[in-house]
Amino acid sequence: MNGMSRPDPALANRRTNLVGIGRAELAAEMAAFGAEPFRARQLWHWIYHRGATDFAAMTNLAKGFRERLAAQYELHRPAVSRAQVSADGTRKWLLRFADGQEVETVHIPETDRGTLCISSQVGCTLNCTFCHTGTQRLVRNLAAAEIVGQVMLARDALGEWPSPREDRQLTNIVLMGMGEPLYNYDNVAAALKIVMDPEGLAISRRKITLSTAGVVPIIARVGAELGVNLAISLHAVTDELRNRLVPLNKKYPIGELVAACRAYPGASNARRITFEYVMLKGVNDSLAEARELVRLLRGIPAKVNLIPFNPWPGAPYECSSDAAIAAFSEIVFAAGYSAPVRTPRGRDIAAACGQLKSQSLHPRFAARIAAPPAAVAVP
Ligand code: SAH
Repeated sequence: MNGMSRPDPALANRRTNLVGIGRAELAAEMAAFGAEPFRARQLWHWIYHRGATDFAAMTNLAKGFRERLAAQYELHRPAVSRAQVSADGTRKWLLRFADGQEVETVHIPETDRGTLCISSQVGCTLNCTFCHTGTQRLVRNLAAAEIVGQVMLARDALGEWPSPREDRQLTNIVLMGMGEPLYNYDNVAAALKIVMDPEGLAISRRKITLSTAGVVPIIARVGAELGVNLAISLHAVTDELRNRLVPLNKKYPIGELVAACRAYPGASNARRITFEYVMLKGVNDSLAEARELVRLLRGIPAKVNLIPFNPWPGAPYECSSDAAIAAFSEIVFAAGYSAPVRTPRGRDIAAACGQLKSQSLHPRFAARIAAPPAAVAVP
């Protein structure tokens, strides 16, 4: 007998993860499993509203059915490689997936909300020159299950099951961790549809912000299919400079990006597009650039997030001075745009923009970044 064709016992024992499968797919899966349609709905409730990790807990399902489910399926969470809590309450989880790849997820508590910053890819292909993630070699897309898994894991850790109706610690989600969400659009969209489902995790599209470096052809779909808030990593007001900071600009220059924003479905004064602008000393922080930024955004329901550059070892930039950031902000503000400067959060645990996973890749990194200011972009 040909040994190659023998089933691999490890694979034979592998159960299908039901976390990350959409509503319609779950219904189809249960139909194929021989269960009545309302069973899929009950399962959904247990998985995403109650946060069940074990079929045995699903007490309104017959015992035999629970046992059959458990034999074939699992309710999987990513493994936690490390969990850290900052003095300011920011939490960071380094999560490990089945293939050993790791990403980070960060929870930022505030008085009136709590924001979870999630990753969409392992590493990133964009190589923005100020971002540490761009220096990581390995890149792969996260599966929908791995994206939803970050939210489930945070709910577990925050003790928020069943999904609370009010007084939540996890109210908002930003896709501002590792990766470019619009280079993994299908999985991101599938995951967000699960996260937004009102009978499950129930995080409204109004509380979700997707941040992109500007994958122009997909931007309209984000508005039409998901309806979440949009954030654009702009960072420069001329193509010449943006080509250097965000090389994706060579493919989708500022003019096209701004036009896509103007056409973004659902943008209004009540739901503004966020423009992120990292403050780099002597590079993009002049008053003339602030004025040009205001000119570029004219007519777009916009707000501006000024992000103090968060340095990493060997980074070719420095953060702008407080005075330069304040002056820049003043010009944008005077033109009628809200222009908050991101407050540093989680600096003692390297939970900030562009730093995620740095410590696990470079053991010496922790000591070297202990002092500088850090910022996590929260809209
Ligand atoms: N790829 C997406 C989302 C991930 S980055 C995007 O580009 O928007 C999330 C935000 O953090 C982006 O605005 C990014 O430009 C910013 N960022 C990355 N590295 C940073 C750093 N070292 N300091 C400050 N902000 C940084």
